[in-house]
Amino acid sequence: MPTDFNQLTNQLPGLVELCRTYATEGRVASYIPELAHANPQTLGITLHHKSGSFTSAGESDTPFTLQSISKVFTLLLALMDRGEQAVFEKVGMEPTGDVFNSMLKLELVQPGKPFNPLINAGAIVISSLIGGDTPELKSQRILRFIRDLAGDDSPSFNESVYRSEAATANRNRSLAYFLKDNKVLDQDVEPTLEVYFKQCAIEVTCAHVARMGLILANDGSDPLSGREIVPKRYVRIAKSFMVTCGMYNASGEFAIQVGIPAKSGVAGGILALVPGELGIGIIGPALNDKGNSTAGVQLLKQLSEHYDWSMF
Ligand code: GLN
Repeated sequence: MPTDFNQLTNQLPGLVELCRTYATEGRVASYIPELAHANPQTLGITLHHKSGSFTSAGESDTPFTLQSISKVFTLLLALMDRGEQAVFEKVGMEPTGDVFNSMLKLELVQPGKPFNPLINAGAIVISSLIGGDTPELKSQRILRFIRDLAGDDSPSFNESVYRSEAATANRNRSLAYFLKDNKVLDQDVEPTLEVYFKQCAIEVTCAHVARMGLILANDGSDPLSGREIVPKRYVRIAKSFMVTCGMYNASGEFAIQVGIPAKSGVAGGILALVPGELGIGIIGPALNDKGNSTAGVQLLKQLSEHYDWSMF
């Protein structure tokens, strides 16, 4: 049954307050020092329906950086730039069951080939595949793509978050050098990481993420104008990865409890979508030990139960 958007709008503020209590179960990420300034009690959501209606509740205007949510969009851009074969020569299609920045499985199967494009190792390789002669050009193309999907030109790089991550990213550097050693990464490490850190530092609000989700929910086209932004085939690939790997090593539990494609980021953002219906953007900076927003996941769980969103 289609979601009753009026009912949802009325119900949303109460649900946000109910789910906000779950923020105390999580902690704001601090391994990127700049992210530690976020208020753990923040919870905001925007839902954007294919009819053009949207609704928000809580602190949905709080800006936050995409972090790992960006990985879905660089995957799409790399597929559009290079095609499926070139992309899957470099990254696999399987979940790892490990934390997002794990090195554990990098030596398995084919040495250095990351299991999927949504873990850090895979996303770093994907950043190297984005078209553009310099890191600046690649980053500008990613930003332009995000703005197009968000339907707004205000998303920009948060320079402090970028610098904060670049200055402290020992683990991502280790992953990148390992990938380079195995020739899975065939570009230089630092310029590739510059692109990766910049995509993670693109600053958005819930409304932007909801619009980006809506385009995916509508198979890559703007439901109002009908304009195709991403080919349907690539959106299908991205949505499949969101279901199997989008919430990292909590993706199985999330599929059971919520049952829709989603992608989280360590700034506390979640991109989610109800196929054929709506896009969702959430911010809730307090994270559980798997790196997902505690209050945000709870909010999706409540909404999915109430509106019977599960795909399964
Ligand atoms: N920039 C972050 C990192 O590489 C992104 C990780 C995330 O959002 N889970 O560690």
